[in-house]
Amino acid sequence: MNIHEYQAKELLRRYDVLVPHGRVVFTPDEAAHAARKLGGPVWVVKSQIHAGGRGAGRFLDDSSDKGGVRVVKSIDDVRASAAQMLGKTLVTRQTGPAGRVVRRLYVEEGCDIARELYLGILIDRATSRITIMASTEGGMEIEEVAARTPEKILKVAIDPASGIQPFHARRLAFGLGLSGKQVGAATRFILSTYRAFTELDASIVEINPLVVTGSGDVMALDAKFNFDDNALFRHPDIEAMRDESEEDPAETEAARHALNYVRLDGNIGCMVNGAGLAMATMDIIKLHGAEPANFLDVGGGATRERVTTAFRLILADPKVEGILVNIFGGIMRCDVIAEGVVAAAREVGLTVPLVVRLEGTNVDLGKQILRDSGLPIVSANDLADAAAKVVAAVRATQKKGGK
Ligand code: GDP
Ligand code: MN
Repeated sequence: MNIHEYQAKELLRRYDVLVPHGRVVFTPDEAAHAARKLGGPVWVVKSQIHAGGRGAGRFLDDSSDKGGVRVVKSIDDVRASAAQMLGKTLVTRQTGPAGRVVRRLYVEEGCDIARELYLGILIDRATSRITIMASTEGGMEIEEVAARTPEKILKVAIDPASGIQPFHARRLAFGLGLSGKQVGAATRFILSTYRAFTELDASIVEINPLVVTGSGDVMALDAKFNFDDNALFRHPDIEAMRDESEEDPAETEAARHALNYVRLDGNIGCMVNGAGLAMATMDIIKLHGAEPANFLDVGGGATRERVTTAFRLILADPKVEGILVNIFGGIMRCDVIAEGVVAAAREVGLTVPLVVRLEGTNVDLGKQILRDSGLPIVSANDLADAAAKVVAAVRATQKKGGK
């Protein structure tokens, strides 16, 4: 789960991490009021969406070259900026061309920036360690730094047995070229942010930029948290920060039915049991020259109701031109799955070709049920056969001029 910048800063503040004062607002009047309370002479008005690159982003239907983060010098300009951003669609490198509607803003006191740095904490799966990354290239996307100048990224992996030690943080501070009282400030900053990361069960914390101010303070100017969904039950206050308007409604609906669904860009919808098999299914679709429209793991104990929900989710995606169901019946019997598929297809209405590959317990009975249904379901014998058939079916419909 992701949260907004202002929420991330509120969490960091609880851990004594230095962040500028600010207020979240929903209207231009609230923005002006917040600015008055914060006091000037400089304010920053920041669009709150679950995507980065806001500063360099642009609003749809807005010919000015102003982005989603604006530094302004009067209360009137705070109000005017708020009016220009609220309710408008912001397009950034991370939102995709459709952009995101800005529904809330963060009004923050201005900050005297001497240096912009980068700090990230994440779980490095290769080393099974929490890893702290820092870079002198603040404000730039870390992926870009990694691609162009990987030597500018400093990494420190933390041994889970010892946990973080002050020397880890000092090593990063010196590596960033800090000196004097900045070293102590950066060390405290890193240790506190690390504590927030672990105690809150985060999977990513990214501070970009982390700034050194003119007076030598070390502060978070931007903050991004991603949380491990499986640990959210331990943090009801963080769960309450969820902003469903920022989430894909299909993914929210899927989560409600305990389905693991991730929307992708392709045209072949997939319904699979087991995450590993779901990944293999996406690979084989690509191998046959098409792209998956989603990842969907219906789980080991898929019931007829869950299969129906899964179908509805797949078909609700307008990009889907064909569906591939790939089920390995182990604990789950193939005849039960087949009944679920037939019932779901009848209930939801099949508007695109459907290819089903069943294997495992009661497979013959399962295939019989599909055949007897009278529905135009194509049966496949193995994974490659299934992928070839669904790709061919989609191409055939495309030739005929649409689904
Ligand atoms: P992002 O573009 O979504 O990553 O949004 P950021 O919060 O990182 O803001 C983008 C850029 O705006 C930062 O890299 C800073 O250069 C600038 N910025 C953000 N806050 C302030 C501020 O308080 N004062 C000044 N002068 N610049 C700021
Ligand atoms: Mn940023």
